[in-house]
Amino acid sequence: MTLARLALYIIVIAVLFAGAWSLPLAADRAADHASEGAVDSQAFLQSHMTPAGPAASTFAPAVDKLLAQMTLKEKVGQMTQLTIQTIVDGKDQDIHINPEKLHKAIAEYGVGSMLNVYDQALSLEKWHEILRTIQAEAKNTRLQIPVLYGIDSIHGTTYVEGGTLFPQPLAMAATWNPELMLRGSRISAAETRKAGIPWTFSPVLDVGRQPLWPRLYETFGEDTYLATVMGVATIRGYEGDDISSPSQVSSSLKHYVGYSYPTTGSDRSPALIPESALREYFLPTFAAAVTAGAHTVMVNSGEVNGIPGHTNAYLLKTVLRDELGFQGVVVSDWQDIERLVTAHHAAATEKEATRIAILAGIDMSMVPLDYRFSDLLLQLVQEGSVPVSRIDEAVRRILTLKYQLGLFTDPLRGIDSNVTLGPTESRQASLAAAQESITLLKNENRTLPLAKSARVLVTGPDADSLIPLDNGWSYTWQGDKSSAYPTTGYATILGAIRQKIGADHVTYVPGATLDKELDVAQAAAAASASNVDAVVLCLGEWAYAETPGNVPDLALPDAQIHLAQKMLESGKPVILVLTEGRPRIIRPIAAGASAIVMAYNPGNEGGQAIADILFGDVNPSGKLPLTYPRYANMLFTYDHKTLEGDEGAAAPLYAPQFEFGYGMSYTKFDYSDLQVTSPSGSGTQKIQVAITVKNTGDRAGKEVVQLYVNEQAASITPPLKRLKRFAKIQLQPGEMRRYTFELGPDDLSFINAENKKVVEPGLFNVQIGGLKQTFEWK
Ligand code: BGC
Repeated sequence: MTLARLALYIIVIAVLFAGAWSLPLAADRAADHASEGAVDSQAFLQSHMTPAGPAASTFAPAVDKLLAQMTLKEKVGQMTQLTIQTIVDGKDQDIHINPEKLHKAIAEYGVGSMLNVYDQALSLEKWHEILRTIQAEAKNTRLQIPVLYGIDSIHGTTYVEGGTLFPQPLAMAATWNPELMLRGSRISAAETRKAGIPWTFSPVLDVGRQPLWPRLYETFGEDTYLATVMGVATIRGYEGDDISSPSQVSSSLKHYVGYSYPTTGSDRSPALIPESALREYFLPTFAAAVTAGAHTVMVNSGEVNGIPGHTNAYLLKTVLRDELGFQGVVVSDWQDIERLVTAHHAAATEKEATRIAILAGIDMSMVPLDYRFSDLLLQLVQEGSVPVSRIDEAVRRILTLKYQLGLFTDPLRGIDSNVTLGPTESRQASLAAAQESITLLKNENRTLPLAKSARVLVTGPDADSLIPLDNGWSYTWQGDKSSAYPTTGYATILGAIRQKIGADHVTYVPGATLDKELDVAQAAAAASASNVDAVVLCLGEWAYAETPGNVPDLALPDAQIHLAQKMLESGKPVILVLTEGRPRIIRPIAAGASAIVMAYNPGNEGGQAIADILFGDVNPSGKLPLTYPRYANMLFTYDHKTLEGDEGAAAPLYAPQFEFGYGMSYTKFDYSDLQVTSPSGSGTQKIQVAITVKNTGDRAGKEVVQLYVNEQAASITPPLKRLKRFAKIQLQPGEMRRYTFELGPDDLSFINAENKKVVEPGLFNVQIGGLKQTFEWK
């Protein structure tokens, strides 16, 4: 290769992969390879914001024409969503549609939408049979309006047998790599549509700032910017550039808004969030997703500041429609109109609840078990308590979505596509995501990677099951039905370690279940035995979803702590591997562990990915998307405010076990030369921030360059730092790069006491990799 050609090659690769990268510094760069895989958060955002077609306006004449022919009952039917349980007999795989029940739903009530599974993932053939039967019934009705089927594809193709499961969203966020999220949601869209389902109730854009909340693993963690980038990636993957395509689906942003911050930590319990904080931390994910064109929004089942999500006309209309410009369908969450009476006590009767919710802006009710909503709404309109214009508005949106999805042309679009479920490439994409998510939190004396000649004891409740790798929304709602999981083809942590180093190098003693001791003494004896060099201790949680996942305490159950203590007493290096949907307190055992690996819920390929990391086939690059608390009663997010109270305090106020953004590598990255190009800026100017990162270790690795900003003084107390940019980069040993980020006024803004976004002039700190610079905004 000539020198000129080599230079051209390097430039092309740099431009292709690097986004905002400046050119490599040749001096320290190994000459024989090009850099790979740099993903810049802002470049990614900017290039994935274009909404998917086809435009709603294309179908306006057809929708108006159809609407004009509809009876009131047919319109109300379109606003009704029922669960599959209402139309089938049998259970699990043996369900079959009951023709009378189906007829009642579709022909008599004109039900517009159906959802979910009946406690079991279905085979592709079963899905096709069910959807063909439903759509055939719809085709027989007067106006032949297709039914819109929706499902929770929370982390891949969760409810279709053989579908690809990905790491849960919290783990996807730990990759800090939106390209992986995009790839995953694309695969999930194609596989879901292959089943005949054009609508997924995902992504969860609730920002996960309350670690006790049982839905934390469904979020992209505690930071608004990281969640925004990953959320947009998810939407682009689902919706592509054309949602009528046989391999795309409509997304649903949920749960609008403030659901993830319940004061008690329990699911669906009240939240108190000042509007400025709601706008600062919880709304931006939804705002970006609306701009990116998401077609539906699901509403918060809980309440914020005393107002249930389903009655909050201010949030559903003034903010979502008028301010954010959302034009799609707003769907209620499960039974949430009924729950306005039974749970929230916000209405005395279901009829009143229906009136309030519909007037507040609910377009479709996930009823989902009976016909009361349809009957009551019909009465309300007939009595004049709900204007027909509101019904028309909702139905117009629903019909428009059905047109946009191509359902009027082919209600089964996707089932004939050449997409296959769970092919090798998709499994590899899931494996790559799991590998990049796993976060190395401690590695004393380079305990990891273990030599492949090592002899290990594997123990702990999560060692030998796919269930804690996947968690909820996996084959079944709770994800805890072992018979629903594949029995071959996927390795547990134990299985993957056995494959990697040979079964004769592995001793396995379960030790404990989640909360009961089993054979702790036997595990202790095995740990001390001379044929064991190290202990891989697999602790954490099992599977749960929503309210059943509430826990009163973040502490790990005593049985697990006791097992861990016995392992530590053996004197062998203990590698603590955590598979958990939220950060359980590990303080009593963290100091003694030689290495700690946070694996979150890495999905079906997670066992393999964990083994790859433990034995050094993959260099870890995950970073915490949350603050890992040390104490159950000290739940700070990283972007907290002043620590003035430290003075005179017996213990530091902020002492997380591990900080947000933290994660180690088997190589070492050094940061130097942080520079702000201009000492001041104003108006619409941009500020460039440059940093040099060097791989000073002895192996290639990926690093997440994280840029934080804080204002030194502002009219609302400023957080000590906030993430504004990041880039996931790959560096070879000895390789050095200068990376430039660009900040604009929006990145310096905050929501003031009048709930307005403002930039206040003053001094700003910018921090990258432990270095700090200051600039002024005038
Ligand atoms: C959950 C939603 C989900 C819906 C349908 C509700 O209980 O809150 O996230 O989409 O059920 O399964």
